[in-house]
Amino acid sequence: MRGPIPSDPRTRFYRSIELSVDGCWNWKLSKGKRGYAQFWMAGAIRIASRASWELHYGEIPGELFVCHHCDNPACVNPEHLFLGTPSDNIRDCVRKGRQRQVRKQFCPSGHPYSDENTYLASSGSRHCRECIKKRNSEWRKYYGRYAPRNKTNSVRRIANCQGQQEGVEGTHEVVG
Ligand SMILES: [Zn+2]
Ligand SMILES: [Zn+2]
Repeated sequence: MRGPIPSDPRTRFYRSIELSVDGCWNWKLSKGKRGYAQFWMAGAIRIASRASWELHYGEIPGELFVCHHCDNPACVNPEHLFLGTPSDNIRDCVRKGRQRQVRKQFCPSGHPYSDENTYLASSGSRHCRECIKKRNSEWRKYYGRYAPRNKTNSVRRIANCQGQQEGVEGTHEVVG
């Protein structure tokens, strides 16, 4: 790429990757020890996979690691990344990521998929209760008195119509 270096980290980030056939986003810029991709963001050298997580999902909570499902340390594809606990070392994360039956321990915002915090949809997919609660309260703030206050279908239907009229994306689950 020619021209001045763009200051927007997102633009610089996307210019620094090369798509591979297996879906990995391989980092083209400098790599540190053990092949980990490095990225200059917010005035510091960052591990690019962590920068990728923050650009796509937001802040990494606490001391959590960003781990690779694909076992490719140069990869920064957010869909190949997951969060691991501080007690896991990086090798461990990779090993866990390879075992498909081991499920992610944290939602993208870093809340634990514990029994209490996991809402199991009828489709079998898991949702983070903490995030649902947060989404619902943000939604209530936005819609004020039109927000659903209980689980009855009529209220939910009206709420959904509102959402469509206002151009709000996605469905809004009402839980708990
Ligand atoms: Zn990958
Ligand atoms: Zn969550």
